[in-house]
Amino acid sequence: MPNSRGSRETACALPSQFAGAGFIGLEFAATARIKGLEVDLLELASRVMARAVTAEVSEYFQKQHTAAGIRIHLGVQATAIEASGGKVSGVSLSDGRHIPADLVVVGVGVLPNAELAAEAGLPVASGIIVNDHLLTADPDISAIGDCALFESPRFGGSLRLESVQNATDHARCVAARLTGADKPYDGQPWFWSDQGDDKLQMVGLTTGYDRVVLRGDPSRKAFSAFCYRGDKLLGIESVNRAGDHMFGRRLLPAGGSITPEQAADQNFDLKKALG
Ligand SMILES: Cc1cc2nc3c(=O)[nH]c(=O)nc-3n(C[C@H](O)[C@H](O)[C@H](O)COP(=O)(O)OP(=O)(O)OC[C@H]3O[C@@H](n4cnc5c(N)ncnc54)[C@H](O)[C@@H]3O)c2cc1C
Repeated sequence: MPNSRGSRETACALPSQFAGAGFIGLEFAATARIKGLEVDLLELASRVMARAVTAEVSEYFQKQHTAAGIRIHLGVQATAIEASGGKVSGVSLSDGRHIPADLVVVGVGVLPNAELAAEAGLPVASGIIVNDHLLTADPDISAIGDCALFESPRFGGSLRLESVQNATDHARCVAARLTGADKPYDGQPWFWSDQGDDKLQMVGLTTGYDRVVLRGDPSRKAFSAFCYRGDKLLGIESVNRAGDHMFGRRLLPAGGSITPEQAADQNFDLKKALG
């Protein structure tokens, strides 16, 4: 449905070899659609938010956005943004198609501004390298937030995360060190994304999961995907189920878990599992 100015928008959610892609394009697309604009969403991967969420959650959001009238093009690569008369006119795709547009939003992820650190002689890779106390190789320089590639004993490797939780918890960790309460950073990652009427909340890092257990019902627009490796709960993706998300935010930092059978059982009382 064109808006009153006959406007047409293309939200390009291009995958990035660095980070991001998915949330921002979908959030923008959902809002633009609610405002009555026509939206085409372009995505190289075979499903939306493929890097970040389970196939079950991708499928739910893909259905919701499609039902709202967003045209989702999967497995396509934008190769050029075209202009005519000094204004954007559309996007060319690698399969030869051309999608007309008068506004293009490119949500392809970000690169950290690590140049200053590199110029100062600090080790930099996909971010500014810091240890598990968020210290660089120079004991007087810390790096926190999106730009920090930090050592995580909890997850057994280096992480660079882009989230408000990560940035603010990093800040607390360094502030504690500076005020005499030094301890390793051990924050529990959590994220959110509001898309149309749906609230997606994620807790934990689910890399390497081999089993997904659903709690709730996607057809009732309220469910969570509990992600397991073996019997160990790695993380929870919740759609309009804030209680499940908050359960994960209390359980996971303490190293707790519930069995896949308990997660699937609607009658299992999550609060009791917190003790
Ligand atoms: C559109 C968008 C939506 C988002 N939505 C969410 C969300 O829903 N939930 C969520 O958890 N996260 C979200 N994020 C991510 C979140 O905003 C970031 O993780 C968070 O802002 C990181 O904080 P930061 O302080 O590390 O970096 P920033 O907020 O990026 O701040 C870094 C600042 O440093 C400045 N800077 C860079 N280099 C230099 C330099 N050499 N000298 C001086 N200043 C410099 C930059 O200009 C910038 O102002 C979103 C991000 C974007 C872009």
